[in-house]
Amino acid sequence: MRLDELIVREREEFARRNPRSRELHENARGSLLAGVPMSWMTMWPGGFPLYQGRASGATIEDADGHEYADFCLGDTGAMAGHSPEPTMRAIGGIEGITTMLPTEDAAWVGDELARRFGVPYWQFSLTATDANRWMIRMCRQVTGRDRIGVFSWCYHGSVDESFVRLDDQGLAQAREGLVGPAVDPTETTRVAEFNQVDSVRSVLEHADVACLLMEPALTNIGIVLPEPGFLAEVRNLCDEHGTLLIIDETHTLSAGPGGCTAAWGLRPDAVTLGKSIGGGVPIGAYGVSAELAERISSQEDADYEDTGGVGGTLAGNALSLAAARATLGEMLTDDAFRNMVELRERFAAGAEAAIAVHGLPWSMVSLGARCEFRYSPEPPRTGAESAAAGDPALDEYLHLYLMNRGVLITPFHNMALMCPATTEQQVDLHTEVFASAAAELAA
Ligand code: PMP
Repeated sequence: MRLDELIVREREEFARRNPRSRELHENARGSLLAGVPMSWMTMWPGGFPLYQGRASGATIEDADGHEYADFCLGDTGAMAGHSPEPTMRAIGGIEGITTMLPTEDAAWVGDELARRFGVPYWQFSLTATDANRWMIRMCRQVTGRDRIGVFSWCYHGSVDESFVRLDDQGLAQAREGLVGPAVDPTETTRVAEFNQVDSVRSVLEHADVACLLMEPALTNIGIVLPEPGFLAEVRNLCDEHGTLLIIDETHTLSAGPGGCTAAWGLRPDAVTLGKSIGGGVPIGAYGVSAELAERISSQEDADYEDTGGVGGTLAGNALSLAAARATLGEMLTDDAFRNMVELRERFAAGAEAAIAVHGLPWSMVSLGARCEFRYSPEPPRTGAESAAAGDPALDEYLHLYLMNRGVLITPFHNMALMCPATTEQQVDLHTEVFASAAAELAA
């Protein structure tokens, strides 16, 4: 069968299997814009999203009663598993969710993040997006520079300045479809190509870039790993040109308990993250080096506290921090990561074997507890190569094929993440289903 016929077959099966989800989606159209509580939920394949029934550990049950081995894990939001017991216990014990007063948990989480990432001073937001936004503002403030730097095809949340990429001529362009930009982001942002030292140099040489905001491996255009020596060069260039280096570990925490920063010995001026560390409860965090902390506090004219543009009423609330303490302290531990990485190795080996047996021109890329299959014989090296390796039709087929057989992966790309509750049986189920999809494609 041709790919378009396979997709039609899988869509029909999806519709047949999920009448309750479909009905709930139809009902929701009456009160929700686009029929969903968040617009990106329309990106699930199949014409309507599955509705959540129950979710626990690495398993989701949908509204029609089907069970899934969940490798999406809330796009890392549920890296600790769904409803992790210590987190649920901690938040159940909260007396007063948001009082405007600090709780002891905050300093515990600050200490723990400092231990893991090596930058000593932390604050909290409710999302990783806000952690990035506020960090960017502070970098502008302390450097007196107005531009920021990012990598082409990056994603750091809905941060205005980051929606830029390089076109075929190597010129910065606003991302397609950018909704209501206040200013053209090419005016605020310089863009470099990942893994290309010269490109980073030419961005920083302008001496107007306050900070370079980067993931240590791109993860939002598929995983693109840094080549040996690239991140050290980036650090040197930042030092040379007076640019602060912000490492966004929101997704790359999959590399280990201290993300890529610890795993690869990076020396950022600031670290941002969010999602996973609250075990599903909203939280973001940003940490700074002692030197940057000093520079921030010496800005006497900057209003960090009130209406200067940094902060949010619910940021640092008792609920978020109780959740983060329990999740970091009891779920996303060093031991847990060891098991998660072992399972990811099993997962990647299973998929790689199927790719090889069926002679598909694909590759696997891994980052700690997370891995992804790519539609290119060698893993892409740059954002542009990675974007070019995308194939929406193949994605739709594979995602539906997996979902129709009890396996969930992240809808925006082909990533699979292991959590502390993931089992070998779940990994082997993926291997079996993935292999039969590969066999169909190769036939
Ligand atoms: N940074 C990175 C690297 C991300 O991938 C994301 C979201 N996927 C964010 C920041 C923003 O997270 P949130 O949407 O929770 O604010």
